[in-house]
Amino acid sequence: MSKTIQAVRGMNDILPADAALWEFFEDTVADWLRAYGYTQIRTPIVESTDLFVRSIGEVTDIVEKEMYSFEDRLNGEQLTLRPEGTASCVRAVIQHNLLYNAPQRLWYKGPMFRHERPQKGRYRQFHQVGVEALGFAGPDMDAEHIVMTARLWKLLGLDDVALEINTLGSLEARARYRSRLISYFEGHADVLDEDAKRRLHSNPLRILDSKNPAMQAIIEAAPKLAEDLDEESRKHFEELQEMLIAAGVPFRINPRLVRGLDYYNATVFEWVTTRLGAQGTVCAGGRYDSLIEQIGGKSAPACGFAMGVERLLALLQEQSFVPPALMPDAYMLHLGEQADRMAILAAEQLRDSGLSVVLHCGGGSFKSQMKKADASGARYAVIIGDDEATAGEVSIKPLRTSGEQSRMNLVQAAEYLAE
Ligand code: ATP
Ligand code: MG
Repeated sequence: MSKTIQAVRGMNDILPADAALWEFFEDTVADWLRAYGYTQIRTPIVESTDLFVRSIGEVTDIVEKEMYSFEDRLNGEQLTLRPEGTASCVRAVIQHNLLYNAPQRLWYKGPMFRHERPQKGRYRQFHQVGVEALGFAGPDMDAEHIVMTARLWKLLGLDDVALEINTLGSLEARARYRSRLISYFEGHADVLDEDAKRRLHSNPLRILDSKNPAMQAIIEAAPKLAEDLDEESRKHFEELQEMLIAAGVPFRINPRLVRGLDYYNATVFEWVTTRLGAQGTVCAGGRYDSLIEQIGGKSAPACGFAMGVERLLALLQEQSFVPPALMPDAYMLHLGEQADRMAILAAEQLRDSGLSVVLHCGGGSFKSQMKKADASGARYAVIIGDDEATAGEVSIKPLRTSGEQSRMNLVQAAEYLAE
């Protein structure tokens, strides 16, 4: 026998046993986004590599070492499996001129790909739900995003996530901060790891995002951006804080919060939990006012965030959350030539009334069919034998309670099962 083929390392099958949890999450999220007036956008999973290099930034973990890139074997084009959703979303908005006469509230969901070291909460294919508001400049939109995420945690029943916010200021403020950081880290060159040394002159802010424990002390003591902050960003950040206080959303200012992607400016935020070990950030985002122009669109302000679905589901499971069961209403058994023919139509008729019905396939005795009905989790068995078929009726037997079996026609059956 040849060796069995396994899924690619760091890429997970989502098995039927987890379907109820995923569906609960996705349904909750779709309702939640509708409640805020966001519309879904679906973009391809493969994009030009250049899109990510130009948006996420050349000197970032994602672009330097985490992208799944390949050459189109026919025309040699450089392509990449998307590592995140914002760049694709912005590309589509520019390409289709969606900002032509109105700002946009958009969302997306789907798999993202990053070649990271697989561990709990960190995979090579993972899923994000992301939200983008394009064409909005004020802190009111940053506040909307934070308030809406706070509501989602409530809807999901998560109480263990805390909000951290920071501001990265304008591009000019970051440039000033950058030179101060370079001098500071130059003074600690002996502690810097290889990545940090390489980034010291190209992208020193990235050093603050390092997860290397050996560097945490110098990162902690590094100069803070606050002193270089421009007036406009300071005001934007203060207004955001006032709005969050007014909305009753508690937060902590974390001056080390810089995010792993270069396109952010002004507001950045993360929702973090202590219950998932090192992979504690479940949602992250911020403002990216220059990204649209940077990848070829007409300049427009924007902000957004993305959440890690696997991490949120892990958190739900941590809290022993039990999702609503995905059991069918009925399992239909049938035996005999006439009954077999009637069953297909009878099942359709019950489904017409909105019921979920699993129709037994594959024959067998009533006894063996009943075993399958039981295992299906269905609330009722709907039974059609020759007697029932001749009378154009069905027998219904409750499977989860001790009620009696009773006979009725299909109209009555639909009503009975719907109760
Ligand atoms: P981290 O600091 O954990 O690497 P990040 O800053 O790279 O996260 P973003 O690019 O902002 O993450 O993505 C938003 C969210 O997507 C993260 O907060 C996290 O919940 C989730 N996420 C990111 N990378 C992974 C991954 N490899 N596996 C699972 N979830 C991930
Ligand atoms: Mg990362």
